[in-house]
Amino acid sequence: MRKHIVAGNWKMHKTNSETLTLLNEILAKKKESKTEIIVAPTFVNLKAANDCVNGKGITVAAQNMHQAEGGAFTGEIAANMLTDINVKTVILGHSERRAYFHETDGQLADKVNTALKHEMRVIFCFGEELKDRQKENHFNIVEYQLRDALFHLEKKDWANIVLAYEPVWAIGTGETASPEQAQEMHQFIRNLIAKVYGSEIADNVSILYGGSVKPNNAQEIFSKPDVDGGLIGGASLHADDFLAIVNAF
Ligand code: 13P
Repeated sequence: MRKHIVAGNWKMHKTNSETLTLLNEILAKKKESKTEIIVAPTFVNLKAANDCVNGKGITVAAQNMHQAEGGAFTGEIAANMLTDINVKTVILGHSERRAYFHETDGQLADKVNTALKHEMRVIFCFGEELKDRQKENHFNIVEYQLRDALFHLEKKDWANIVLAYEPVWAIGTGETASPEQAQEMHQFIRNLIAKVYGSEIADNVSILYGGSVKPNNAQEIFSKPDVDGGLIGGASLHADDFLAIVNAF
């Protein structure tokens, strides 16, 4: 059965020393739990972060990577550079990558393929913008994003896919989807996966919700049957807030 995951996307926050301070505080305060804890610091801090949490029940993920195996791509990071430092989970398709760096679902399909070829696990982000929801087009947008980036995959690939539904209008805005809106979309996503890949894959894929998850709303959102965890931005930058969300299951 699918697992519960709470992942902190630290975005472009925290220096190397701040990364280690925050990780050590999380390590010191975290309780035994079945929920997987993931943190995603910036590239330059991945190795130090992984060395810090090694064997202590926290997974370190990258926030992005390039689809090419290497080569003349100034400023980019290849999959084998991540796996070589033992980073085997990568967030792909975050709405900030889509909005500011023009990543498309076609390009994301290539990134997903490269990650899977390197036996990495992908946390695939997607979600509609406010204008899509206002036009009541949000289900179509989400369906197209999944179709164009993921539905070429084979059944076996889904063991390494985690989905993260992040409605763009809820990211960093303080405005979260209601638990009912999250459940409605997560159920739609799971039904869609069941239609394309069958119910076993649909039942086993973890679907995280992201967008202004905080200690005071996490429990209600996580109580919904198709919400298997969260991808947390702002609140993951403080150990107490992040752990309160982890403990909300
Ligand atoms: P916030 O939790 O700050 O809204 O960010 C969500 C997010 O983008 C996680 O990837």
